[in-house]
Amino acid sequence: MIRLLYFSQTTQPASSEAVENILQSSRANNLALDITGVLVHGGGLFMQTLEGPEENVLPLYVKIMRDQRHENCRIVHISHAEKRLFQKWSMGIVEGDPLTQHHVMRLYAQRMEAVPGKAYTDTMREFLRKLNAPR
Ligand code: FAD
Repeated sequence: MIRLLYFSQTTQPASSEAVENILQSSRANNLALDITGVLVHGGGLFMQTLEGPEENVLPLYVKIMRDQRHENCRIVHISHAEKRLFQKWSMGIVEGDPLTQHHVMRLYAQRMEAVPGKAYTDTMREFLRKLNAPR
């Protein structure tokens, strides 16, 4: 199994209807592909984590990358994974409340400044843990 995380920029403001359309496709398709994850959006960015069998995650990422609702997709983390972080979600959604948005922008900025890999990974892990924590 692998875990892949990418950022992208929305090509137009992500309305709740647009996000709902994405989620509907995601939930239907991902279940069949044994893929779980979370989609975070806010501040003109998407951040998505996909986890599941490598042979399913990589083709799905290529499909998503070609979607015209966003651009500049950049993989920021990819690794083998033993356990799922988002096992309950065929695709969870986190909307950009100020705190989430702050985290997303911080992660994005860190990535763009090419900080040492470990610092970035630690911030990402902390954020993913918060997302996955029971609410
Ligand atoms: P349908 O869901 O039936 O959609 C039909 C077609 O219409 C598709 O080609 C779709 O791209 C297109 N479409 C629908 N609404 C719009 C719109 N507003 N603008 C442009 N085209 C539109 N798909 C997944 O399966 N799993 C994911 O985890 C996933 N995550 C995504 C994350 C992001 C940030 C984005 C932008 C898209 C994501 N998608 C995801 C959608 C993916 O890119 C494909 O659109 C989708 O997988 C196609 O599903 P489908 O073949 O079942 O077609």
